[in-house]
Amino acid sequence: MSNDYSLYFHIPFCKQRCAYCDFNTYAGREDTIPAYVDALRNEIKAAGVALSASQGKSAPRLGVGTIFFGGGTPSLLAPDQFRDIFQSIRAFFEVSPQAEISLEANPGTVSLAYLRELRALGFNRISYGAQSANPNELRMLERIHNYNDVVDAVRWSRRTGFDNLNLDLIYGLPEQTLISWQNTVKLIVGLRPEHISAYALTVEPGTPFGRWAAKGLLPSPDPDLAAEQYEWTMDYLTAQGYVQYEISNWALPGRECRHNLQYWRNLDYLGLGAGAHGYAGGYRYSNVLRIKTYLNRSADSRFADLPFPLSQATVHWHRNTPRDDMQETMMTGLRLTDEGISAEGFRQRFGVDLLEVFGKEILKLETVGLLKWEGEALRLTRRGRLLGNQVFMEFVGG
Ligand code: SF4
Repeated sequence: MSNDYSLYFHIPFCKQRCAYCDFNTYAGREDTIPAYVDALRNEIKAAGVALSASQGKSAPRLGVGTIFFGGGTPSLLAPDQFRDIFQSIRAFFEVSPQAEISLEANPGTVSLAYLRELRALGFNRISYGAQSANPNELRMLERIHNYNDVVDAVRWSRRTGFDNLNLDLIYGLPEQTLISWQNTVKLIVGLRPEHISAYALTVEPGTPFGRWAAKGLLPSPDPDLAAEQYEWTMDYLTAQGYVQYEISNWALPGRECRHNLQYWRNLDYLGLGAGAHGYAGGYRYSNVLRIKTYLNRSADSRFADLPFPLSQATVHWHRNTPRDDMQETMMTGLRLTDEGISAEGFRQRFGVDLLEVFGKEILKLETVGLLKWEGEALRLTRRGRLLGNQVFMEFVGG
Protein backbone atom coordinates (compact mmCIF):
# COMPACT_ATOMS: atom_id res chain seq x y z
CA MET A 1 0.00 0.00 0.00
CA SER A 2 1.39 3.41 -0.88
CA ASN A 3 0.73 6.41 1.32
CA ASP A 4 1.24 8.87 -1.46
CA TYR A 5 -1.91 10.94 -1.11
CA SER A 6 -3.12 13.61 1.25
CA LEU A 7 -6.74 14.60 1.81
CA TYR A 8 -7.80 18.16 2.60
CA PHE A 9 -11.35 18.91 3.79
CA HIS A 10 -12.56 22.50 3.79
CA ILE A 11 -15.05 23.34 6.54
CA PRO A 12 -16.37 26.82 5.68
CA PHE A 13 -18.18 27.74 8.90
CA CYS A 14 -17.21 30.27 11.57
CA LYS A 15 -19.07 31.67 14.57
CA GLN A 16 -18.22 35.17 13.33
CA ARG A 17 -15.90 36.60 10.73
CA CYS A 18 -12.62 38.02 11.92
CA ALA A 19 -11.93 41.52 10.60
CA TYR A 20 -8.84 40.59 8.53
CA CYS A 21 -10.03 37.24 7.12
CA ASP A 22 -10.60 36.64 3.41
CA PHE A 23 -10.88 32.84 3.59
CA ASN A 24 -13.86 31.08 2.08
CA THR A 25 -15.92 30.87 5.24
CA TYR A 26 -19.39 31.94 6.37
CA ALA A 27 -20.80 33.05 9.73
CA GLY A 28 -24.28 32.10 10.93
CA ARG A 29 -24.67 29.11 8.59
CA GLU A 30 -24.16 26.38 11.19
CA ASP A 31 -27.70 25.08 10.46
CA THR A 32 -26.35 23.70 7.18
CA ILE A 33 -23.52 21.69 8.78
CA PRO A 34 -25.45 18.35 8.75
CA ALA A 35 -26.22 18.72 5.02
CA TYR A 36 -22.65 19.80 4.39
CA VAL A 37 -21.30 16.67 6.08
CA ASP A 38 -23.57 14.55 3.84
CA ALA A 39 -22.28 16.42 0.78
CA LEU A 40 -18.69 15.85 1.83
CA ARG A 41 -19.44 12.14 2.14
CA ASN A 42 -20.91 12.20 -1.38
CA GLU A 43 -17.78 13.89 -2.66
CA ILE A 44 -15.53 11.29 -1.00
CA LYS A 45 -17.62 8.56 -2.60
CA ALA A 46 -17.46 10.28 -6.01
CA ALA A 47 -13.67 10.51 -5.78
CA GLY A 48 -13.39 6.87 -4.69
CA VAL A 49 -15.69 5.60 -7.47
CA ALA A 50 -13.96 7.70 -10.16
CA LEU A 51 -10.60 6.46 -8.93
CA SER A 52 -11.52 2.78 -9.18
CA ALA A 53 -13.08 3.43 -12.61
CA SER A 54 -9.80 4.98 -13.77
CA GLN A 55 -7.57 2.28 -12.30
CA GLY A 56 -9.71 -0.83 -12.64
CA LYS A 57 -11.45 -2.66 -9.81
CA SER A 58 -8.48 -4.94 -9.05
CA ALA A 59 -6.07 -2.01 -8.42
CA PRO A 60 -5.09 -1.49 -4.77
CA ARG A 61 -6.98 1.27 -3.00
CA LEU A 62 -5.29 4.64 -2.85
CA GLY A 63 -3.13 5.04 0.26
CA VAL A 64 -3.53 8.15 2.37
CA GLY A 65 -0.73 9.43 4.61
CA THR A 66 -2.23 12.69 5.87
CA ILE A 67 -5.72 14.11 6.41
CA PHE A 68 -6.30 17.76 7.24
CA PHE A 69 -9.54 19.51 8.19
CA GLY A 70 -9.10 23.24 7.58
CA GLY A 71 -11.38 26.20 7.31
CA GLY A 72 -13.18 28.06 8.51
CA THR A 73 -13.52 26.52 11.91
CA PRO A 74 -13.61 22.71 11.62
CA SER A 75 -13.96 22.49 15.41
CA LEU A 76 -17.61 23.54 14.90
CA LEU A 77 -18.34 19.98 13.68
CA ALA A 78 -19.54 17.48 16.27
CA PRO A 79 -17.53 14.30 16.94
CA ASP A 80 -20.30 12.19 15.35
CA GLN A 81 -19.99 14.19 12.15
CA PHE A 82 -16.26 13.50 12.00
CA ARG A 83 -17.00 9.82 12.70
CA ASP A 84 -19.28 9.72 9.65
CA ILE A 85 -16.68 11.42 7.47
CA PHE A 86 -13.95 8.98 8.58
CA GLN A 87 -16.27 6.08 7.83
CA SER A 88 -16.64 7.32 4.24
CA ILE A 89 -12.91 7.92 3.87
CA ARG A 90 -12.12 4.39 5.05
CA ALA A 91 -14.71 2.92 2.68
CA PHE A 92 -12.77 4.21 -0.33
CA PHE A 93 -9.19 4.88 0.77
CA GLU A 94 -6.52 2.98 2.67
CA VAL A 95 -5.61 5.25 5.55
CA SER A 96 -2.13 4.48 6.90
CA PRO A 97 -2.04 3.50 10.60
CA GLN A 98 0.68 6.18 10.91
CA ALA A 99 -1.37 8.83 9.13
CA GLU A 100 -1.12 12.39 10.42
CA ILE A 101 -4.71 13.51 11.04
CA SER A 102 -5.00 17.24 11.76
CA LEU A 103 -7.76 19.56 12.80
CA GLU A 104 -7.67 23.34 12.64
CA ALA A 105 -9.43 24.71 15.68
CA ASN A 106 -10.38 28.04 17.12
CA PRO A 107 -9.24 28.12 20.77
CA GLY A 108 -12.63 29.53 21.80
CA THR A 109 -14.52 26.50 20.48
CA VAL A 110 -13.01 23.46 22.23
CA SER A 111 -13.55 21.74 25.60
CA LEU A 112 -11.84 18.90 27.42
CA ALA A 113 -14.70 16.53 26.56
CA TYR A 114 -14.65 17.52 22.88
CA LEU A 115 -10.89 17.01 22.60
CA ARG A 116 -11.16 13.63 24.28
CA GLU A 117 -13.66 12.53 21.65
CA LEU A 118 -11.50 13.83 18.81
CA ARG A 119 -8.49 11.93 20.11
CA ALA A 120 -10.57 8.74 20.33
CA LEU A 121 -11.61 9.22 16.70
CA GLY A 122 -7.97 9.20 15.58
CA PHE A 123 -7.07 12.88 15.36
CA ASN A 124 -3.42 13.23 16.39
CA ARG A 125 -2.55 16.85 15.57
CA ILE A 126 -4.35 20.12 16.30
CA SER A 127 -3.54 23.52 14.86
CA TYR A 128 -4.91 26.38 16.95
CA GLY A 129 -5.41 29.88 15.57
CA ALA A 130 -3.83 31.67 18.56
CA GLN A 131 -2.75 34.75 16.53
CA SER A 132 -1.65 36.96 19.44
CA ALA A 133 -1.36 36.99 23.23
CA ASN A 134 -2.19 40.69 23.39
CA PRO A 135 -5.85 41.43 24.30
CA ASN A 136 -5.97 44.66 22.29
CA GLU A 137 -4.63 42.93 19.17
CA LEU A 138 -7.10 40.05 19.51
CA ARG A 139 -9.90 42.57 19.89
CA MET A 140 -8.77 44.52 16.81
CA LEU A 141 -8.67 41.26 14.81
CA GLU A 142 -12.22 40.55 16.08
CA ARG A 143 -11.25 37.10 17.27
CA ILE A 144 -13.77 35.35 19.53
CA HIS A 145 -11.09 34.05 21.90
CA ASN A 146 -8.65 35.52 24.41
CA TYR A 147 -5.19 34.31 25.35
CA ASN A 148 -6.48 32.32 28.35
CA ASP A 149 -8.54 30.26 25.89
CA VAL A 150 -5.29 29.37 24.11
CA VAL A 151 -3.67 28.31 27.38
CA ASP A 152 -6.74 26.20 28.26
CA ALA A 153 -6.88 24.63 24.77
CA VAL A 154 -3.21 23.61 24.98
CA ARG A 155 -3.60 22.26 28.53
CA TRP A 156 -6.72 20.25 27.64
CA SER A 157 -5.08 18.96 24.46
CA ARG A 158 -2.13 17.65 26.47
CA ARG A 159 -4.45 16.05 29.02
CA THR A 160 -6.32 14.22 26.30
CA GLY A 161 -3.14 12.85 24.71
CA PHE A 162 -2.37 15.26 21.86
CA ASP A 163 1.41 15.43 21.56
CA ASN A 164 1.50 17.34 18.27
CA LEU A 165 0.19 20.91 18.42
CA ASN A 166 0.61 23.94 16.22
CA LEU A 167 -0.09 27.53 17.22
CA ASP A 168 -0.68 30.08 14.45
CA LEU A 169 0.47 33.68 14.98
CA ILE A 170 0.15 36.93 13.01
CA TYR A 171 2.67 39.76 12.96
CA GLY A 172 2.82 43.05 11.08
CA LEU A 173 -0.45 44.20 12.67
CA PRO A 174 -1.38 47.88 12.67
CA GLU A 175 -0.03 49.50 15.84
CA GLN A 176 1.71 46.29 16.92
CA THR A 177 5.13 47.07 18.36
CA LEU A 178 8.22 44.91 18.25
CA ILE A 179 7.94 44.44 22.01
CA SER A 180 4.31 43.35 21.89
CA TRP A 181 5.16 40.79 19.17
CA GLN A 182 8.16 39.52 21.15
CA ASN A 183 5.94 39.17 24.19
CA THR A 184 3.45 37.07 22.19
CA VAL A 185 6.14 34.78 20.77
CA LYS A 186 7.77 34.29 24.19
CA LEU A 187 4.45 33.39 25.82
CA ILE A 188 3.63 30.98 22.98
CA VAL A 189 7.06 29.32 23.19
CA GLY A 190 6.43 28.95 26.93
CA LEU A 191 3.53 26.63 26.03
CA ARG A 192 6.01 24.42 24.10
CA PRO A 193 3.88 23.59 21.06
CA GLU A 194 5.64 21.22 18.67
CA HIS A 195 5.04 23.63 15.80
CA ILE A 196 4.64 27.39 15.34
CA SER A 197 3.40 29.21 12.22
CA ALA A 198 3.92 32.97 11.96
CA TYR A 199 2.33 34.85 9.07
CA ALA A 200 2.61 38.52 8.16
CA LEU A 201 -0.75 40.26 7.95
CA THR A 202 -1.87 41.19 4.46
CA VAL A 203 -4.72 43.67 4.35
CA GLU A 204 -7.09 42.21 1.76
CA PRO A 205 -9.68 44.27 -0.12
CA GLY A 206 -13.21 43.11 0.66
CA THR A 207 -12.45 42.51 4.35
CA PRO A 208 -13.34 45.00 7.11
CA PHE A 209 -9.58 45.68 7.44
CA GLY A 210 -9.44 46.45 3.71
CA ARG A 211 -12.43 48.81 3.93
CA TRP A 212 -11.11 50.59 7.02
CA ALA A 213 -7.68 50.99 5.40
CA ALA A 214 -9.27 52.45 2.24
CA LYS A 215 -11.09 55.04 4.38
CA GLY A 216 -7.93 55.85 6.32
CA LEU A 217 -9.42 54.43 9.53
CA LEU A 218 -6.78 51.72 9.97
CA PRO A 219 -3.15 52.74 10.38
CA SER A 220 -1.06 51.06 7.68
CA PRO A 221 1.14 48.24 8.93
CA ASP A 222 4.83 49.22 8.74
CA PRO A 223 6.66 46.81 6.36
CA ASP A 224 10.07 47.62 7.87
CA LEU A 225 8.78 46.76 11.33
CA ALA A 226 7.23 43.54 9.97
CA ALA A 227 10.64 42.60 8.50
CA GLU A 228 12.29 43.33 11.85
CA GLN A 229 9.68 41.19 13.65
CA TYR A 230 10.29 38.36 11.19
CA GLU A 231 14.08 38.49 11.52
CA TRP A 232 13.85 38.53 15.30
CA THR A 233 11.45 35.54 15.17
CA MET A 234 13.86 33.51 13.03
CA ASP A 235 16.68 34.04 15.54
CA TYR A 236 14.58 33.64 18.67
CA LEU A 237 12.80 30.45 17.65
CA THR A 238 16.07 28.89 16.49
CA ALA A 239 17.61 29.68 19.88
CA GLN A 240 14.58 28.02 21.51
CA GLY A 241 15.16 24.73 19.65
CA TYR A 242 12.69 25.21 16.77
CA VAL A 243 13.87 24.47 13.25
CA GLN A 244 12.65 26.79 10.52
CA TYR A 245 11.69 24.46 7.69
CA GLU A 246 9.46 26.79 5.69
CA ILE A 247 9.32 30.58 5.26
CA SER A 248 6.56 30.93 7.89
CA ASN A 249 6.85 27.63 9.79
CA TRP A 250 8.99 26.29 12.61
CA ALA A 251 8.92 22.88 14.31
CA LEU A 252 10.69 20.93 16.98
CA PRO A 253 12.91 18.37 15.20
CA GLY A 254 10.78 15.74 13.44
CA ARG A 255 7.51 17.64 14.03
CA GLU A 256 7.16 19.33 10.65
CA CYS A 257 3.58 19.27 9.36
CA ARG A 258 3.57 16.29 7.00
CA HIS A 259 0.37 17.43 5.33
CA ASN A 260 1.79 20.83 4.41
CA LEU A 261 5.07 19.22 3.30
CA GLN A 262 2.99 17.36 0.72
CA TYR A 263 1.89 20.74 -0.74
CA TRP A 264 5.32 22.29 -0.63
CA ARG A 265 6.90 19.25 -2.27
CA ASN A 266 4.25 19.64 -4.96
CA LEU A 267 2.87 16.14 -4.42
CA ASP A 268 -0.68 14.87 -4.87
CA TYR A 269 -3.55 15.84 -2.61
CA LEU A 270 -7.30 15.77 -2.98
CA GLY A 271 -9.22 18.88 -1.90
CA LEU A 272 -12.82 18.27 -0.83
CA GLY A 273 -15.50 20.72 0.26
CA ALA A 274 -16.64 24.20 -0.80
CA GLY A 275 -13.73 26.25 -2.11
CA ALA A 276 -11.18 23.44 -1.66
CA HIS A 277 -8.26 23.20 -4.08
CA GLY A 278 -6.58 19.98 -5.16
CA TYR A 279 -3.65 18.72 -7.21
CA ALA A 280 -3.84 15.11 -8.25
CA GLY A 281 -3.58 12.87 -11.27
CA GLY A 282 -1.98 15.73 -13.24
CA TYR A 283 -4.90 18.13 -12.61
CA ARG A 284 -4.92 21.30 -10.56
CA TYR A 285 -8.53 22.05 -9.67
CA SER A 286 -10.83 23.97 -7.36
CA ASN A 287 -14.33 23.52 -6.03
CA VAL A 288 -17.31 25.84 -6.07
CA LEU A 289 -17.07 28.44 -3.28
CA ARG A 290 -20.60 28.88 -1.97
CA ILE A 291 -22.07 26.41 0.51
CA LYS A 292 -25.51 26.42 -1.12
CA THR A 293 -24.12 25.67 -4.58
CA TYR A 294 -21.86 22.98 -3.13
CA LEU A 295 -24.90 21.31 -1.53
CA ASN A 296 -26.98 21.58 -4.72
CA ARG A 297 -24.25 20.11 -6.87
CA SER A 298 -23.70 17.26 -4.46
CA ALA A 299 -27.20 15.97 -5.25
CA ASP A 300 -27.07 16.68 -9.00
CA SER A 301 -26.16 13.65 -11.09
CA ARG A 302 -25.41 15.82 -14.15
CA PHE A 303 -22.04 16.61 -12.58
CA ALA A 304 -21.23 13.02 -11.65
CA ASP A 305 -19.24 11.87 -14.67
CA LEU A 306 -16.02 13.87 -14.44
CA PRO A 307 -12.78 11.86 -14.39
CA PHE A 308 -10.74 11.40 -11.19
CA PRO A 309 -9.82 13.56 -9.29
CA LEU A 310 -12.60 15.96 -10.36
CA SER A 311 -15.94 15.75 -8.61
CA GLN A 312 -19.43 17.19 -8.93
CA ALA A 313 -18.17 20.15 -6.87
CA THR A 314 -15.29 21.02 -9.21
CA VAL A 315 -15.68 24.24 -11.17
CA HIS A 316 -12.16 25.00 -12.43
CA TRP A 317 -9.55 22.53 -13.57
CA HIS A 318 -6.40 22.60 -15.56
CA ARG A 319 -4.33 19.71 -16.84
CA ASN A 320 -0.77 20.61 -15.93
CA THR A 321 1.93 20.51 -18.58
CA PRO A 322 5.40 19.31 -17.52
CA ARG A 323 6.45 22.97 -17.63
CA ASP A 324 3.61 23.90 -15.20
CA ASP A 325 4.75 21.14 -12.85
CA MET A 326 8.35 22.31 -12.97
CA GLN A 327 7.42 25.94 -12.30
CA GLU A 328 5.11 25.01 -9.44
CA THR A 329 7.74 22.71 -7.95
CA MET A 330 10.19 25.65 -7.86
CA MET A 331 7.63 28.00 -6.33
CA THR A 332 6.50 25.63 -3.60
CA GLY A 333 9.81 23.81 -3.03
CA LEU A 334 11.85 26.95 -2.49
CA ARG A 335 9.50 27.82 0.38
CA LEU A 336 11.17 24.92 2.20
CA THR A 337 14.03 26.88 3.69
CA ASP A 338 15.92 23.83 4.93
CA GLU A 339 15.18 21.32 2.19
CA GLY A 340 15.08 23.65 -0.82
CA ILE A 341 15.15 22.14 -4.29
CA SER A 342 17.36 19.11 -4.77
CA ALA A 343 19.02 19.17 -8.21
CA GLU A 344 19.09 15.37 -8.22
CA GLY A 345 15.46 15.12 -7.08
CA PHE A 346 14.44 17.50 -9.85
CA ARG A 347 16.30 15.45 -12.47
CA GLN A 348 14.73 12.21 -11.24
CA ARG A 349 11.23 13.68 -11.23
CA PHE A 350 11.32 15.53 -14.55
CA GLY A 351 14.10 13.75 -16.46
CA VAL A 352 15.83 17.03 -17.19
CA ASP A 353 18.55 19.07 -15.53
CA LEU A 354 17.41 21.91 -13.25
CA LEU A 355 19.96 24.33 -14.70
CA GLU A 356 18.93 23.46 -18.23
CA VAL A 357 15.38 24.61 -17.45
CA PHE A 358 15.91 27.45 -14.96
CA GLY A 359 19.64 28.28 -15.22
CA LYS A 360 19.04 31.90 -16.21
CA GLU A 361 16.55 32.59 -13.38
CA ILE A 362 18.72 30.86 -10.77
CA LEU A 363 21.87 32.75 -11.78
CA LYS A 364 20.01 36.07 -11.61
CA LEU A 365 18.65 35.31 -8.12
CA GLU A 366 22.05 34.08 -6.92
CA THR A 367 23.68 37.25 -8.19
CA VAL A 368 21.30 39.46 -6.19
CA GLY A 369 21.80 37.31 -3.10
CA LEU A 370 18.34 35.72 -2.86
CA LEU A 371 19.26 32.10 -3.69
CA LYS A 372 22.30 30.00 -2.88
CA TRP A 373 23.55 26.48 -3.56
CA GLU A 374 24.40 24.31 -0.56
CA GLY A 375 25.74 21.05 -1.91
CA GLU A 376 23.23 19.96 -4.50
CA ALA A 377 20.34 21.82 -2.83
CA LEU A 378 19.18 25.22 -4.00
CA ARG A 379 17.87 27.31 -1.11
CA LEU A 380 16.67 30.79 -0.22
CA THR A 381 19.25 32.96 1.51
CA ARG A 382 18.21 34.77 4.69
CA ARG A 383 17.43 37.83 2.55
CA GLY A 384 15.55 35.57 0.13
CA ARG A 385 13.23 34.51 2.95
CA LEU A 386 12.22 38.15 3.36
CA LEU A 387 11.68 38.58 -0.37
CA GLY A 388 10.20 35.18 -1.19
CA ASN A 389 7.54 36.49 -3.58
CA GLN A 390 10.17 38.23 -5.67
CA VAL A 391 12.00 34.88 -5.97
CA PHE A 392 8.91 32.85 -6.86
CA MET A 393 7.79 35.31 -9.54
CA GLU A 394 11.00 34.66 -11.47
CA PHE A 395 9.86 31.09 -12.13
CA VAL A 396 6.37 31.97 -13.34
CA GLY A 397 7.25 33.51 -16.71
CA GLY A 398 8.18 31.74 -19.92
S1 SF4 B 1 -11.77 31.95 12.66
FE1 SF4 B 1 -10.21 31.81 11.00
S2 SF4 B 1 -11.37 31.26 9.17
FE2 SF4 B 1 -12.88 31.98 10.69
S3 SF4 B 1 -13.18 34.14 10.21
FE3 SF4 B 1 -11.55 34.03 11.79
S4 SF4 B 1 -9.62 33.93 10.64
FE4 SF4 B 1 -11.28 33.49 9.19
